[in-house]
Amino acid sequence: MVDLTDRVALVTGASRGIGRGVALALAEAGAAVAVNYRERADAAEAVCSEIAAAGGQAIAVQADVTDADAVAAMVKQVVAELGGLGILVNNAGIIADAYLTFMKPEAWREVVDVSLTGAFLCTKAAVRPMMKGRWGRIVNMSSDAGLMGDLMRAHYSAAKAGLLGLTKAAARELAGQGITVNAVAPGIIETDMTADMDDKRAEAMMSMIPLRRFGVPEDVAGLVVWLCSDAAAYITGQTISVDGGLRM
Ligand code: NAD
Repeated sequence: MVDLTDRVALVTGASRGIGRGVALALAEAGAAVAVNYRERADAAEAVCSEIAAAGGQAIAVQADVTDADAVAAMVKQVVAELGGLGILVNNAGIIADAYLTFMKPEAWREVVDVSLTGAFLCTKAAVRPMMKGRWGRIVNMSSDAGLMGDLMRAHYSAAKAGLLGLTKAAARELAGQGITVNAVAPGIIETDMTADMDDKRAEAMMSMIPLRRFGVPEDVAGLVVWLCSDAAAYITGQTISVDGGLRM
């Protein structure tokens, strides 16, 4: 059992899906959790209530991760209200399927902005309080798409691959401060993001997954919590897939 008592965590895009699962799991391990949301305050508050009902501590914090000032203010708020910041999970991400030849430059920029620039901005803001505590854990939510490339998702695949570069560079730069930086690469996880996958694609994907099921947020959350624990103190700059064996 991982013990994250006295740790403070910030999870971006945590009002639903994988981020929600990660927030709940970090709280279950004892961390105080800041549940970031962009628009859905009600959903973020519901996650906080669930955490509180289980005896944990959580606050909902609003910020669009692509907005540098909003991100800096959010981190300030977390430190002021929860007493520090040691764990950052850069989870916020979006998709917008389009073939490369039809992909609008604005769509490219938006997808890269949320997944990659958002992670950079949050990391930049969170590193200072982590340095103060001389302890930190940063987990970046990449994707198998960043490792394999995904059809109709050139922007998404590029952003998720870019996250791996950010992970490694930050891991090298921050190692001396007691901060580890790792990436998690989910395969297909059942969330709103994958809910409208058509049957044909779902069948084709399933046939490529040795464990013969799609993942659930808890599958990803278990790894994230472990990476945030002291047991993972000697692991940094790594990418670990959670995909039932889809990519090996
Ligand atoms: P989701 O759409 O349910 O959740 C994404 C969350 O990010 C939402 O809460 C959304 O509001 C938030 N978000 C989007 N833009 C934001 C912004 N600008 N600022 C703050 N928050 C923002 O999807 P999910 O499946 O839970 O995905 C979570 C992460 O996991 C994403 O980074 C996604 O790319 C990654 N991922 C998901 C899968 C999958 O199969 N579901 C696979 C690989 C990677």
